[in-house]
Amino acid sequence: MSTQSLLRPAILIISDTAAADPSTDKAFPILKETFAQDGAGKWTEPIVEIVKDDILDIQRILRAWTDTEDAASGQIHLIITTGGTGFARRDFTPEAIAPLIHRHAPGIVHGMLAASFQVTPFAMMSRPVAGVRNKTIIVTLPGSPKGAKENLQAILKLLPHACLQAAGEDSRAAHVGGVKKLEKDAGVTASPNGPAPSNDPRLGATARARSSPYPMLSVADAVAKILEVAPQPKPELRDFSPDLTGYVIAEDIKAAEAVPAYRASIVDGYAVIVPNKTSSEAHIKGTFPVASVSHAQAASLPPPLEAGEIARITTGAPLPENANAVIMVEDTTIASLTEDKTEEATVEILTDELTVGENVREPGSDIKLGEMILSKGNQISALGGEIGVLAASGIQKIPVFRKPRVGIMSTGDEVSDITHSGPLSGGMIRDSNRPSLLSLLRGWRICEEVVDLHVARDTPHNELEEKLRAAFRTNDLDIVITTGGVSMGELDLLKPTIERSLGGEVHFGRVSMKPGKPTTFASVPFKDSTLGERESRLVFGLPGNPASALVTANLFVLPCLQKMAGLPGKGLERVTARVQGRVKCDKERVEYHRVVVAVDAKDGKLVARSTGMQRSSRVGSLAAANALLVLPQRAGFLEEGAECEALMMGPVLGF
Ligand code: AMP
Ligand code: MG
Repeated sequence: MSTQSLLRPAILIISDTAAADPSTDKAFPILKETFAQDGAGKWTEPIVEIVKDDILDIQRILRAWTDTEDAASGQIHLIITTGGTGFARRDFTPEAIAPLIHRHAPGIVHGMLAASFQVTPFAMMSRPVAGVRNKTIIVTLPGSPKGAKENLQAILKLLPHACLQAAGEDSRAAHVGGVKKLEKDAGVTASPNGPAPSNDPRLGATARARSSPYPMLSVADAVAKILEVAPQPKPELRDFSPDLTGYVIAEDIKAAEAVPAYRASIVDGYAVIVPNKTSSEAHIKGTFPVASVSHAQAASLPPPLEAGEIARITTGAPLPENANAVIMVEDTTIASLTEDKTEEATVEILTDELTVGENVREPGSDIKLGEMILSKGNQISALGGEIGVLAASGIQKIPVFRKPRVGIMSTGDEVSDITHSGPLSGGMIRDSNRPSLLSLLRGWRICEEVVDLHVARDTPHNELEEKLRAAFRTNDLDIVITTGGVSMGELDLLKPTIERSLGGEVHFGRVSMKPGKPTTFASVPFKDSTLGERESRLVFGLPGNPASALVTANLFVLPCLQKMAGLPGKGLERVTARVQGRVKCDKERVEYHRVVVAVDAKDGKLVARSTGMQRSSRVGSLAAANALLVLPQRAGFLEEGAECEALMMGPVLGF
């Protein structure tokens, strides 16, 4: 929208207290910020007045704002009032405003109340009115800054269209494209204030949905959604350290020093001056005085070599000036000793087969100064090569992508920590998900830290909200991974907590796969208190069953971490393996069958052997497994010897 066509809002603060002392008003700054942040850039900065809870005063200002069009600044499109909508003796706002309204807008009132009911049943105690006077829309908000903001947010995106119509825009033109286009322009979905799809945990079992309202995504679509939502990797500089394993290089790195920095010997032997340029004419056989000794050390360079002399030299030591080759000690013998008999005085060279430059590393011949040694996107492996090349060429500050910070939390009243001594009582189980996920994620080496967030209890009060908030705020985590609490029971609290308490968005809540159907992925808004930046943090709600939790961590959490760490986010490596024995498929869902993939000694091809019973509660199906066999969705079996895709969780084994 151009500056001319921005909409003009006005805010009327209705409060005896604020009218007596404007510094007590808290509503205006919050509402002004709401227009700026949630107004999609469609509004000018609001004008404001403060008035007592007095019907005539309120009406006087409203008339001034709606009945005359100020030629200089133009039409006011929207008047928001705050305060005076309750039941107190001096709450007169609806009574002041209702008589001025020419055309009522109960839909706006309904929208605000519906949004408030999601926050508190006390929404019933607000008496809002809304409507049009002349060309201006008037809406009354409650007096509490929080309630006023929530109400305004509930309607703000939808108001520009109504404001333009009230101001006289041609409504047929505005409706070309139908409601869908209006929704798209306003940036809203079909039910902006409708109930969130998650069950309300306060409702009893009979009032709850009996099947999940979340659409079922394919695994590929779910991964695509994760990669779309996961933030871009952020570069940072880290000091060189052998512990940089797993980091991904964020900028091409050029050698800061040449390797070697000087002419160095490749062998232990004698530095010589090969007389002629070609080997056929080289005559170095003979006996020579040993003029000096060059060790691989930092202190000094050996003196220059004169014609007819040789110098003893060790591997890696600098060549004396004038020397142009090194003869191996094995091709020489001692001819005479010094007087004290500790060193060789003269040495006989036994061969003529030595060319100029032989056994010499020229400066920069391993790594040239300025040569590219690692490129953006290369990952520092645990195999030593990348760390070695960085160290050799003197790179002290390494541009890498920041690794994400992750926390792991179990949920449920039944889970008991491994440290709990004594027998388990009642329906208690050991918490196996948290330790196994901590170990899995730490082993990937793409997280800066994997924090143990312990267990969130379901009762007596849901601890998830406070534990998630603390995890993001106190531990400054990018991602929290929970297990449990995503199925259809009344204590499956993750989705409602994210949607209803944390104001987050569930991107998906069901995936067509076995195991792992209720896997949930969400983001929650987060305001960085030091930078003041709004961003979002991610939550993976993995199923509680231990095999499901590990399989879904491999399939969904891994690509997310890879992307955030600067990798392409491809997930596990894919191979094709031959099935050993027949394996039953599932006709409803793709199944990730836990297998051992190994090399068949007979033909060197990969074979996959099941780890046995695959029930999702059986974490043992993952013990010893190194791969997930991707069983196609169909009836019947995959027969012995059939080829099937497998996802490698660890290295290929030998049987
Ligand atoms: P839920 O989705 O919370 O109903 O959990 C599904 C199943 O997984 C239940 O049988 C839980 O007892 C089990 N479960 C949940 N959390 C864990 C955990 N941390 N370790 C092992 N099993 C768990
Ligand atoms: Mg549970």
